[in-house]
Amino acid sequence: MYKIGILFENREFEHDVYELIKAFYPEAEIHTLYEDDEAEYDLRFCVERDNENYFIKYDRKENPEIKETEIKGVASAEVITDSAVKDPHALRKENKDSIKYALYQLLVKLTGRTLPWGNLTGIRPAKLAMGMIESGMKNTEAAQEMREKYLVSPQKTALAITIANREREILKDIDYENGYSLYIGIPFCPSICLYCSFSSYPLKVWEKRSDEYVEALCKEVRETALMMKGRKLDTIYIGGGTPTTLLPHQIRKLLDTVGEAFGYEGLAEFTVEAGRPDSITREKLMAIREYPVTRISVNPQTMNQETLEIIGRKHTVDQTKEAFHLARELGFDNINMDLIVGLPGEDIHMVERTLEQIRELAPDSMTVHSLAVKRAARLNIFKEKYQEMSFENNQEIMDLTMKTAYEMEMGPYYLYRQKNMKGNFENVGYAKVDKAGIYNILIMEEKQPIIALGAGGSSKLVFDHGKRIERVENVKDVSNYISRIDEMIERKRTAIATWL
Ligand code: SF4
Repeated sequence: MYKIGILFENREFEHDVYELIKAFYPEAEIHTLYEDDEAEYDLRFCVERDNENYFIKYDRKENPEIKETEIKGVASAEVITDSAVKDPHALRKENKDSIKYALYQLLVKLTGRTLPWGNLTGIRPAKLAMGMIESGMKNTEAAQEMREKYLVSPQKTALAITIANREREILKDIDYENGYSLYIGIPFCPSICLYCSFSSYPLKVWEKRSDEYVEALCKEVRETALMMKGRKLDTIYIGGGTPTTLLPHQIRKLLDTVGEAFGYEGLAEFTVEAGRPDSITREKLMAIREYPVTRISVNPQTMNQETLEIIGRKHTVDQTKEAFHLARELGFDNINMDLIVGLPGEDIHMVERTLEQIRELAPDSMTVHSLAVKRAARLNIFKEKYQEMSFENNQEIMDLTMKTAYEMEMGPYYLYRQKNMKGNFENVGYAKVDKAGIYNILIMEEKQPIIALGAGGSSKLVFDHGKRIERVENVKDVSNYISRIDEMIERKRTAIATWL
């Protein structure tokens, strides 16, 4: 395996430097070092700083057969710190932008490649575009800055600017800075997908304790509603896991409790992510229909049966179609479908086959994810088993998904990136004109607090108009969540009191 060492003289921009190098060398083993070591690296960077400048130097071991290190020379990067800039946050950002700009140029030189999102390593490129537009820049000026300062490709720049504008349009009637959203997590799934890195557990193991889970969750719902009294609740999102692993009486109990505690009046959106087709039944959908739920998801990920089997989703393509038709029959008029591109063994023709079948179903929105193999996913843990398999994702596939979305009268409305994404692409939500998922925008733009309930729930409290975000985490383990529910509630109470 290609081995890279990064020697940091100080840790100032450690994370950004690491992420950018990783984006160019996704398969490499990368070591971060804080003092010189004797180990041999195929490529070694050194990030240094004196009073005025940052320097990125590198040396490269060109030919492993010859046991000597070939020094290519000091590469790039004089990055001038501007003492005239007073605000330390602004100064830090300026230095960070400069160092990433220089490093990106160096990496392009070393690899002969460019990246679609240029030197951006964060997960929210549309937020960057939104910030520029909100600061008074015209679309053309924001686009120019994205292309020239962050070296984003023209195509991705256009996508980010388009999405930022649509988000502004969708959010314009919501007083989001004074409101908040609620996330409720159901951490069970019928089986665990190969690529999953969420807090999810097989339903079979937890079936007997799911009532206890709902009981603890309802307690958290009631107590949190008291903490948030007097504040406007804008959206509710029930996700997971798979919310429809709950039985109809559990769904009713949860939704009754949420309604009694928070009230359903004045919500801009209420989503229940039904998710896995093998968990959806007529009775469960009918239970959901008794409440003012405005949006659901039926998620195929792929419409290729052989891939479903490889990725451990133990349902059939037909089950996806049946669940979708059932939801339509019961009157759900805003149904999202999630897809993943870059799944093991899938080429563009297989993606095309999936898209054709999605088009026939005609959902109201479609979210296209690029496969991201996170550390915890079984796909990563068992990577040797899958190493013979191709993981294909490219711009042609991304273009095909966008073209199909447009043909279904959907436009892009939200966007985010994840670490370790195949091909360094993005996840894009497409929706028909009035069917966009508002919660998705709010969570990505970090415009308002998201209060998260349930095992693994991570609440985000927004301070100073989004300049500072603080998280409050619930424990992930279901058993711990149930037994420590009072502690979770107190944790939240303390954090919310600070925020208020
Ligand atoms: S359905 Fe989603 S949450 Fe459940 S195991 Fe699969 S990827 Fe994980």
